[in-house]
Amino acid sequence: MTIEELAEKMNSSLAMELEDQYGAHNYHPLPVVLSRGEGVYVWDVEDKQYFDFLSAYSAVNQGHCHPRIINTLVEQAKTLTLTSRAFYNDSLGIYEKFVTEYFGYDKVLPMNTGAEAVETALKLCRRWGYDKKGIPSNEARIIVCESNFHGRTISIVSMSTDPDARGGFGPYTPGFNIIPYNDLNALEKALEDPNVAGFLVEPIQGEAGVFVPDEGYIAKAYEMCKAKNVLFIADEVQTGIARTGKLLACEHENVHPDMLILGKAISGGAYPISAVLADDDIMLCIQPGQHGSTFGGNPVAAKVAITALEVIKDENLAENAEKLGKIFRDELKKIPSEMIELVRGKGLLNAVVIKPKNGKTAWDVCVKMKDNGLLAKPTHNHIIRFAPPLVINEEQLLQALDIIHKSILSFE
Ligand code: PMP
Repeated sequence: MTIEELAEKMNSSLAMELEDQYGAHNYHPLPVVLSRGEGVYVWDVEDKQYFDFLSAYSAVNQGHCHPRIINTLVEQAKTLTLTSRAFYNDSLGIYEKFVTEYFGYDKVLPMNTGAEAVETALKLCRRWGYDKKGIPSNEARIIVCESNFHGRTISIVSMSTDPDARGGFGPYTPGFNIIPYNDLNALEKALEDPNVAGFLVEPIQGEAGVFVPDEGYIAKAYEMCKAKNVLFIADEVQTGIARTGKLLACEHENVHPDMLILGKAISGGAYPISAVLADDDIMLCIQPGQHGSTFGGNPVAAKVAITALEVIKDENLAENAEKLGKIFRDELKKIPSEMIELVRGKGLLNAVVIKPKNGKTAWDVCVKMKDNGLLAKPTHNHIIRFAPPLVINEEQLLQALDIIHKSILSFE
């Protein structure tokens, strides 16, 4: 069949067959084929409507195809898409001023994906460690946490403790000290090593299953890092941009990280955009030729990110996430099912730990919710993450809760 014939005949089974035959098998998607999105909804190729409760892993916080963001994308795409950083462009500087003022840092380093931004932060941290802290060459270490998720590159899987993410991909990048998450004693001990340059942490571990640390953990960890002249590096790729009820999850504990890593929703899901923010003392450790990316800081990305971040504030999405998150968790806890072992989360980043019943698992619950018109995906077998676009309103949230309720009770 030609490309035109395939497009003409497109349906769910054809799309799944094509992906299975021609795509690498590095994902195990729910059997639903999406073709359109608007706000909190997506539609499959057969035109069935769903609530999207994954939001592309929290990239689509502003809702699918937000008209302001798409308008910006289209306008800039018609004007100038890519110059590389070999030359200046007339959009990047404006974005850099905007985003640094927005988050309160001296400088930004623009990249494209979350993993690239994490890699950038690791490089910056090491350079700072050598140039400013005086760590002997090639001895710098970075503390990370068990069950972390920071992406998929070789260095990042080298600091992972997930056997699927890491197993069989050695040899691994050295230089990481792995400590338990949410364990200040372990951090205190790890910080005794004078060659530690940074502590990289997710304020809530998203991929691990929305694991929320004890209150005070982030604030205390920050303080301990300061006392040892160690950079506190927050990976807010998933928790940032209003997802947890504040612009950044670290704000819940009034922490301003030394380095801030952002991705996903900084574009509202319209374009791959990521960023590392830091003050001059850190950022200027990297000089021309030492780091970069062909697409990083391109004019489309610069324009899209400004609009996506404006939408967050103009539509009060952090406040909405805070308010509706509370309702969501309260209502989930009321569902009378033994399958719900635990509900946890912050703002609109939430998860339910599922206790299998009669052989039915979190996967079966997700398939049932899909049949009933709501999309979510299990993580680590027994956990379902619920993260709708932050533009969801209370009425839509209650409708979605009805679907979740009905789906879970169908296994009773
Ligand atoms: N950091 C965190 C906390 C993430 O959740 C993710 C993606 N789920 C990443 C980094 C990697 O982002 P990307 O997939 O864009 O590389």
